[in-house]
Amino acid sequence: MTRFMGRGTPVAGVLIAIAVGWTGARAADEGIEGVEIVDHARAAGEPPAVVLETRHFAFHSDPWQNLHHFLYQWARDELGIASGRQEVVVAERHGPQPTGEGARDWSDAVAFYREHVASRDHFDLPMLELKAGLLGLGGDPTADPPDDIAGIAARLGAAMPVYLATWWTGHDAANRAWIEHVGADVSTYESRWVATVSRLFGGEWVEGRLRIDVAAYANWAGGYTSNEPPHTVIWSRDDTNGRGLYGLELVFHESGHVTPLGAPLRRTVADVFRSAGVDEPGNLRHLLLFATAGEVVREIAAARGRPEHVPYVVEEGLTGFAGWAPLWPAVQEHWVPVVRGGGGPVPALEAIAEALREGASLGGGSRDRIRDRE
Ligand SMILES: [Zn+2]
Repeated sequence: MTRFMGRGTPVAGVLIAIAVGWTGARAADEGIEGVEIVDHARAAGEPPAVVLETRHFAFHSDPWQNLHHFLYQWARDELGIASGRQEVVVAERHGPQPTGEGARDWSDAVAFYREHVASRDHFDLPMLELKAGLLGLGGDPTADPPDDIAGIAARLGAAMPVYLATWWTGHDAANRAWIEHVGADVSTYESRWVATVSRLFGGEWVEGRLRIDVAAYANWAGGYTSNEPPHTVIWSRDDTNGRGLYGLELVFHESGHVTPLGAPLRRTVADVFRSAGVDEPGNLRHLLLFATAGEVVREIAAARGRPEHVPYVVEEGLTGFAGWAPLWPAVQEHWVPVVRGGGGPVPALEAIAEALREGASLGGGSRDRIRDRE
C-alpha cells in the first residue's frame, strides 16, 4: 500500500497525481502493490512533514531536520571543515540573505553552530539526542526545540522563522521532488529488497516503517542512518543520488544500516573468517551492503531496458579505494550471484575468505574506507 500525502496545495496536488500515475502503472506491471491515496486534509493527526508512506518506509520533509542539518553544514563550510570524500558547499551562504532582525538571529545561530556544533560528528551522542528530540516535534515549526547541546534550543527557535521566510520553501520543494522521484519505485520494489536483505543479512525489518528525512543537507556522503530510533537522513541535492535509480539504491542501502536488519551479518562475517583462519577485512560488511543494494537495483534497471546501469559503488569509484579494491573482485564473483540467485550468505562468505587467503593484499586503506553507517 502506498499513501501519498500532500498539503492541499496545487503543487502537492500535481505531485500526487504524477506519483500515483507512476505507481499505478508499475504496480500493474509488477503485480506487487496496491495504491491508496490519502488526502492530507482528511488524515487528521498525521504530522504534516510526512510526504509519502509505503509499506516499509515513511518519507518526511521536516523543517527541523532541514534547519539543523543546514546550520551544521553552513557552519562547517564557513570553518572549512571537510570530512569524507566530497566537500559540502553551502551555496546559500552566497545567495540572498535575511535582513533586519532576522539577519542577526541567523548569524547568531550560525555562530552557535560554528562554536558548539560544527566540529561534532552526527554520531556523537548529543547530536543523536538532539536529532531524536527534533524528530519528536512532529514537523511543527512553532514547537520548542530540545536543548541537548546547551543553548541550542534558543538559537534554533530564533532561527526557524528566518529559515521559513528565506530558504524553506525552496528546500521543501526540492525534498518533495526527490521523494516524488524515488517514491513510486520504492513502493514497487521494496518487498523484493526486504526479502533479499533479510535473507542475506539475517535480520528483521524495523517495527513499522523506517523514517527517512529528505533534507537540503545531510552529511558529506549525502545520507546516513542512525539507530535508537532507526532514522535515515538523505539530502535532496541534485547529485548522483538524484539521478536515475541511484536514489532508490540509496534508500535501500541506508536501510541496511539499521541494526535489527543489518547487524546479524557482522557476526556471520566474523564467524566465517574466524573459522577459515583468515583475517577479516575491515568494513567488508559495508561493501557487501553496497553490493547487495547495487545488484538488486541493477537487476531492476536491466529489466527496464537499461543494461548500462552500474551500482553506485562502481559509478562513484568506491571500489577503487585501497581498502576495498582487493575485496571487490571476490565480492563480485562470490556474493553478487547469491544476491541474484537465492540461498544464504555463508557459502559466499567462505568463498570470499578463501579468495583472500589465496592472494589479495589487504594492507592499508583504512583511511579511505567509508564508515559502515553512511
Ligand atoms: Zn552505507
